[in-house]
Order: sequence, then C-alpha cells, then structure tokens
Amino acid sequence: MIIASEIVSEALQAIKKAVAPGITTKALEEIAEDVIRMRGGKPAFKGYKGFPASICTSVNDEVVHGIPSEEVVLKEGDIVSIDLGVIYKGYISDAAITLPVGEISEAAERLLSVTREALFEGIARAVPSNRVGDISHAIQSYVESKGYSVVRKFVGHGVGRRLHEEPQVPNFGLPGRGVKLREGMTLAIEPMVNEGTHDVSIMEDGWTAKTKDGKLSAHFEHTILIKKSGPEILTNW
Ligand code: MG
Repeated sequence: MIIASEIVSEALQAIKKAVAPGITTKALEEIAEDVIRMRGGKPAFKGYKGFPASICTSVNDEVVHGIPSEEVVLKEGDIVSIDLGVIYKGYISDAAITLPVGEISEAAERLLSVTREALFEGIARAVPSNRVGDISHAIQSYVESKGYSVVRKFVGHGVGRRLHEEPQVPNFGLPGRGVKLREGMTLAIEPMVNEGTHDVSIMEDGWTAKTKDGKLSAHFEHTILIKKSGPEILTNW
C-alpha cells in the first residue's frame, strides 16, 4: 500500500503540473495512466463496477465520478476534482484533490481550503480507540461551521486489498459512535463539500454526480494508516 500510495502521489503531482486552461480532462487521464503503468501499477478505478476510465475528473458543480472526456476542455476559473486509485501487487491506494484552473474566484478558493482543512480535521481523529464517528463528526462540524454542507450520498471507506472495504467513513455523524479504530487499519478519508445544498443528482451517464443547486463542490482525500502513535498519511499531493 505504501508503494501504491507513492504511485498515486506521483500521478496526482503530474496532473497538478499539467492542469491549465485549454487542457482536456481526457489528457489528464492519459498523464495519470502513463505514470501508473511506468511504475508497474494498475488504475484501480478502470472497470470498477463498470466505471469506464482510470481517474475521475469532476468540474465545478460536479461532485465526484466525472468521466474524463476529449470534449471537456478546462477553462480559466474552473475547479477540477481529480480522484485516483492505484493497485500495486494486489494492494490499493486512493486519493483526491481539487485543483484550480488558472485564477479562480475568492469564493472557490475558500471552498477548496475549507475542504482540504476538513480532511485534516478528520485525519487528526484517526487514532486507536477513537471511533469512526469521531472522524465523521470532526469533518461535519468543521465544514458546517464555515457555512458549507457535506455530501451524504458518498462516503470514505476502508481500503486495502479491495477499493472499498469496511468500515464506511461518512463525512457526517456523531462522536463516539461506529466502529472502533485499531492500529493497522487503512482508511480513505474523503470529505466532499458543497457550497450550497448537500443534495446531488446523478447524470445520464450513470456516474457523474452534480450538486442539485448547481453550486460548486470540492473533494480532498488521503489514504491513511492508523499507527499506535496516530495517523500516518500514505498519499501525498
Ligand atoms: Mg475513495
């Protein structure tokens, strides 16, 4: 998982360098695929429950699971969420970032920084003998204190030999509830934060989730390992 995470990180960093007005989301997928295959990994999302691409690219009001396309050309002021998973020798790592395309509005900038910060609020609670609800509650209360909402329809998850393992890690919930966290657990913690309503709609492609009110959404994710001493973040953007 450590090596799978290194590959995820390299691919995300390559995408980060390439994101600019005029690039297509399909081109970003190709960049990721090159890095993943060069390092001997496999894209974990391709074919997962029939998903047709190696990464998810979700622009502006798209929340998650956007499909890379030659027709989606990024433009100045957009935000694009990149979600990426890698399998290396049977082990999986999963991470996401939302990137600005050129100069973005102050409002978009703030949404990105709150979502990123919410992830670290959650990760800080990933310590042995805490419970999943402690992570969930930390994320939700931070996000709501900033005037945004957390998406309910999609959640974080255990990750390891499979992309989605128990336990689920919702971005909302009550402290002290849910599965007890133990040393050695590996989790993908991933707040999806909306400017407006938490409600989402699924588009006709069967995958792309958009905010119901058309407002912006951001997504940050790390794969982490719970150690006796606390959380270790395996991925890096
Ligand atoms: Mg995930």
